[in-house]
Amino acid sequence: MNETARVWKYVRGFENLSLCDWPGRSTCIIFLGGCNLRCPTCHNHQLAWDMHSLPAIEPAHIKAYLRDRAGWLDGITITGGEPTMVPGVGELLYEIKKFELPIKVDTNGMRPDIIKDLLQYKLADTFAVDVKGPYAKYPALTGHAVSESAAQANLERIFEMARTKPEAFYFRITRVPDLTESDIGTAQGYLPIEHELKIQNYVPPRRTPEHAQTDTEERRTAGNVVN
Ligand code: SF4
Repeated sequence: MNETARVWKYVRGFENLSLCDWPGRSTCIIFLGGCNLRCPTCHNHQLAWDMHSLPAIEPAHIKAYLRDRAGWLDGITITGGEPTMVPGVGELLYEIKKFELPIKVDTNGMRPDIIKDLLQYKLADTFAVDVKGPYAKYPALTGHAVSESAAQANLERIFEMARTKPEAFYFRITRVPDLTESDIGTAQGYLPIEHELKIQNYVPPRRTPEHAQTDTEERRTAGNVVN
């Protein structure tokens, strides 16, 4: 199996049309499995942590859709999980770029090297970066996957890129139960001056008892620290 065929195996969801995912644009959404974080508030946990329980989507299905409907769309969203965790994600984006639509990549911002590469090789046009909250709350907000210092170091690199290329970034925060208004203000203060933090309302996750058990065990072992 070549690199491109391998990366398509991470595609575990496809939505034909969304009018609200990328403000002002009608897009389709490609969902990639796998994530480096373990946010207890994750609403996409099956995709993020157990992608093999979801069927892979045939590349031919997505390509045929894009061939037929590209003229009706204003863009393509690549989301997860965490797209930057997918080995060879650039290959996938390179193929999708052939449909000549702007591409937005959703990310938690914890892999700035990958974002830098995608930006440099013009494989994505926009990055929607989730800022989870104040750096000090990252361990709690990410299931102990990210330390305070790692969160700060990674996001500061993203903010630096956003200062250089402001049109390629926007930033979001989800008002999860552990965040206060003051926390949201603190997170807003991290952003480059020209950027606003878009606040999203929180949708509680629907977990099966099996997932709840797995989550608890994974958080207890907390072996996947991003640093
Ligand atoms: S970053 Fe957190 S909320 Fe987003 S997919 Fe990963 S675990 Fe879920």
